[in-house]
Amino acid sequence: MKIGWIGLGNMGIPMARNLLAADYELSVWNRSPEKAEPVLALGAKSATTLAQLVDESDILFTMVSDDAAVKAVYDGPGGILAAAGKGKLAVDMSTISPDTSRFLAARCQEVGIRFLDAPVSGSVGPAKEGTLVIMVGGEKSDYEQAKPMLDKLGKVALHLGPNGAGTSAKLAINLLLGITVQGVSETLLFARSLGISTEQMLNIISESAVGTPLVRGKAASILADDYPAAFALKHMAKDLRLASEAGVSTPLAESANASYRHALENGLGDLDLMAIIKDLEGK
Ligand code: NAP
Repeated sequence: MKIGWIGLGNMGIPMARNLLAADYELSVWNRSPEKAEPVLALGAKSATTLAQLVDESDILFTMVSDDAAVKAVYDGPGGILAAAGKGKLAVDMSTISPDTSRFLAARCQEVGIRFLDAPVSGSVGPAKEGTLVIMVGGEKSDYEQAKPMLDKLGKVALHLGPNGAGTSAKLAINLLLGITVQGVSETLLFARSLGISTEQMLNIISESAVGTPLVRGKAASILADDYPAAFALKHMAKDLRLASEAGVSTPLAESANASYRHALENGLGDLDLMAIIKDLEGK
C-alpha cells in the first residue's frame, strides 16, 4: 500500500511520522511545501502537485483545517478529483461538517474514488503516541482496507455507519471538549476570585471524580499562563459552530460557542483552546 498524505499541520506531521515508522511508503503534499521538511527527513517523498501524489498512491489521507480546506484539496482546481484516481480510496481525517463529508463522498463516487470520513479525537500528544480515537463513516469494506493504517494512528478506529457518521460523532465528542474546557476555566476563575489558588484548584480537580487526562495535560500551560497551540482555539470555535449548525438543542454548547467566538474575535484563535480562560478572565 503506497500512501499519499495531504496536510502537514500540528496533527498531520506526527500522524505521517507514525505511518513512516510503520514502514509504509509515503508521499506527501502540503500547501506550504516547507512544512514537509520533518517528514522528508524521515524518508517521505515529496509530491509537487496533488495529481502527482494521487498517481503515486493507492490510498490518500487528508488532514487539513476545515470545510473550505477539504473542499479545496478535493474539489478545487488541481485537486484530488481532477486527478486520475479511479479505484483509489480517500480517507479524510479533518474535522468538518457531516454535510461536507457526504457531499465529498458523492463527488468522489462520480470519479470512481471511494471515500471515508475518519476524523480523530485526541490532540498532538495522542497523535505522536498513535493513540488517537478514530471515528469512521463510509462503506465497511473501505474501512477494512484502511484499518491497518488507522491502527498505526489510533488506539481505536470505530466504524460507525455511512459517510457522515464519523464527522457526526466527532462533532459530538468535541462539543463535550469545548464545554469541558470552558467549565474548567470558569471553575478556576471562580475559585481564584474566592481566594483559592489555581495550583490548589487544579490539584483538587485532578484528585476528584471530574479529574481527567485533559485537565492534567493542560495544567502546566495554565500555571505558566502560556498557551502554544496543540489544538488551536480557532479549530474549537469551528467545531462548536458546526455543532450549532446541526440545529439540535444544546444549551451549554451554544453558550460555549458564543465564548469561543468571542475569544476568536479577540485575536486568540492561534493559541491553544485552553486560552479561552484568558478571554473569560478579561470579561
Ligand atoms: P493546523 O496545524 O492548523 O494545520 C492545518 C493544515 O491544513 C495545514 O497543513 C494547512 O496547510 C492545511 N490547509 C489549510 N487550508 C488549506 C487550503 N485551503 N488548502 C490546502 N491546505 C490547507 O491544524 P491541525 O491542528 O493539524 O488540525 C487539522 C484538522 O484536525 C482540523 O480539522 C482540526 O479541527 C482537527 N483536529 C485537530 C486536533 C488538534 O489537537 N490539533 C485534534 C483533533 C482534530 P498550510 O501548512 O499551508 O497552512
